[in-house]
Amino acid sequence: MFALTEKEIRASFVNATRREVTTATLPDLAELQWDRLDYLGWRDRKAPLSAYVIAPLPEGPTGIILRANEQAKVRRRTMCAWCEDVVETGDVTLYVARRGGAEGRKGNTIGTLICTDFRCSKNVRRLPTSMEAGTKDEDVRRSIMETRREGLIERSRGFVAEILRTH
Ligand SMILES: [Zn+2]
Repeated sequence: MFALTEKEIRASFVNATRREVTTATLPDLAELQWDRLDYLGWRDRKAPLSAYVIAPLPEGPTGIILRANEQAKVRRRTMCAWCEDVVETGDVTLYVARRGGAEGRKGNTIGTLICTDFRCSKNVRRLPTSMEAGTKDEDVRRSIMETRREGLIERSRGFVAEILRTH
C-alpha cells in the first residue's frame, strides 16, 4: 500500500468516535515498509486492547478501530481468517469491530480472528516450503505465494468494507 500520513490515518476511521480518533496512538510511520504491507494494522501501545486496521479500499484508505476480545476462547492453534497462514497459528486473536454509522450506534459489531500483531502481510510473503506446496518447483511456489497474497487483500478489504456497509 502507499504511505499515509498521520493526518490521513486519523481522517480515515469510519467506525470510531472523535475521541477514539484523537486518542489513538499511532505506530512509528517512518519505520514502516509500506510497499510490503497489504493493510496496516497495529495494537495501541497505550491502550493494549485497542487495535486499528487501515485498508486501501478503492474509495481511499479506510480505517477501523477494533477491540481484542481476550476472554474469547481461541483454540491454541487457530488459523488467521485473513492470511490463512498454516504456520503462524499460535498467536491469533478474536478482534471485534463496531459497524459504521447507525448500525454501530445501535451496538452492532462483527468479529474475526486475525494474527494478534497483524503480521499477515509478512506471512503471505513467505515462500511456501516444498512440503506445503507439494513441489520443489520455484515458479509454482511463487504462484502459491501470489495467490495467498491476493486472498489476504480480498479478505482484509472485504471485512473493512463490511464495517462500512449500511443496510
Ligand atoms: Zn494473519
